[in-house]
Amino acid sequence: MRTRLFTPGPTPVPESVMLRMAQPIIHHRTPEFQTAQAELAEGLKLLFQTSGDVITLTSSGTGAMEAAVVNTLSPGDAVITVNAGKFGERWGELCRAYGLRVEEVMVEWGRAVTAEEIGAALDRVPDARAVLLTHSETSTGVATDVRGIAQAIRPRFDGLIIVDGITAVGAHELRFDEWDLDVVVTGSQKGVMIPPGLAFIALSERAWRATETARLPRFYFDLRTMRKPEEAWTPAVTLVLGAVEALRMLREEGIENVWARHDRLARALRAGLSALGLKLFGVSPSNAVTSAELPERGAEFMKLLKERYHVTVAAGQEALKGRIVRIAHLGYYDDADMLTILYAVERALADVEHPHTPGAGLAAARAVLGGE
Ligand SMILES: *Cc1c(COP(=O)(O)O)cnc(C)c1O
Repeated sequence: MRTRLFTPGPTPVPESVMLRMAQPIIHHRTPEFQTAQAELAEGLKLLFQTSGDVITLTSSGTGAMEAAVVNTLSPGDAVITVNAGKFGERWGELCRAYGLRVEEVMVEWGRAVTAEEIGAALDRVPDARAVLLTHSETSTGVATDVRGIAQAIRPRFDGLIIVDGITAVGAHELRFDEWDLDVVVTGSQKGVMIPPGLAFIALSERAWRATETARLPRFYFDLRTMRKPEEAWTPAVTLVLGAVEALRMLREEGIENVWARHDRLARALRAGLSALGLKLFGVSPSNAVTSAELPERGAEFMKLLKERYHVTVAAGQEALKGRIVRIAHLGYYDDADMLTILYAVERALADVEHPHTPGAGLAAARAVLGGE
C-alpha cells in the first residue's frame, strides 16, 4: 500500500534527488566533489538570500543551533530566548547548558512573540548579546514576524539576531542580508527536501567577527575551521550530492515562487480543514505546517489516518499532545497533495462521526488553489 508523508521533517524526497543519491559514492577530496560543494554553496546563498558564506554541517538541525551558540557567545553572556513552543524552548535549554544567562520570554503556545515583547526583554536585559528567535515554530504551526522584530529592535540593538529557520527556510520569505540577521540555521530534512543528516548555517559579517572572540568551547562545530576551502572532516558526500540536486530544483522554480507555492498550499489546507469543521490552532500560521484542534475521538482519528488511509501526519507535542494534529506542506508538495490529505482527513472524520458536509474540504481548497 502506498504511504504518504505529511510531517514537518522528514519531508518527502523528490525522485531526482533519490536517484542522485543512489549513485556510487565518490571521494570527497576530488574535483568532482569540489564542483558539487561549490554548486551547493551557490544554491544555499540563493536559499538564504545572502551574499555571505553558508556553512554545511553534518548533523541534524539542532547541531546547527548548537553551532550558532558556541561560535558566537562566551560563558556568562546574557541572551534573550522565546518560549512559544518546543523549539523556542530548545534555544533556552541549549543556552543554559552552555552557562549563558537566559532571559526567557514566555509566550502562550499558539501565539507568536511580538516586537514589543522583545523590546521589553531588551529593557530588562540591556547587556543582552543575542536575541534568539524561531521563525516557524513547528510545534504549534505559528510563524514569527522575524523581519518586523529585526526592524523594530535594530536601531537600539547591535548584538546578534540568531534565528532557527528550520521549517521557515524555503517556506517563508527570508532575506538574510536585507533583514540584517546574523545567524540563520536550517536542517536538510525540512524545506531542503533531502533526508535528515545535514544542517546549514548562514552568518553575517557581525557574526563572523563574533566567532573570533567567542569563548565557549567548540571543536567539531568550529565554523572557522569549516569556512576554509579544504574539507576538515569527512563530509556526508551522498547527502551533499542530494542537496545539490534539490537546490537545483528550487533554483529552477525560483525562490520567490517556492515561497508563494508554500503560502498557497497552506491557505488551501487551512480553508479545507476549516470547511470540514476543524478549528485551526494558533494565530499567524506557518507556511510549513498547519495545526488544527483534534475532533472528538481524536486518538481514533489519528490512528485511522495512519492505518486505514496510510497518511503520516504529526501529533501535538508536550502540552499540545492529544489536542492538535499537525499537517505539513513543507518542501516537495503540490496542489494535488493538499487535495489528497483533505480527502484522507474527510474519510477519517466520517469514520469518527464528526459532523461535516461531504466534499466541503476539497471544494474550499479548490477555491483557493484556483483552476475552475
Ligand atoms: C525540526 C526542527 C528542529 C530540530 O531539528 P532536528 O533536525 O530534529 O535536530 C528545530 N527547530 C525547528 C523549528 C524544527 O522544525
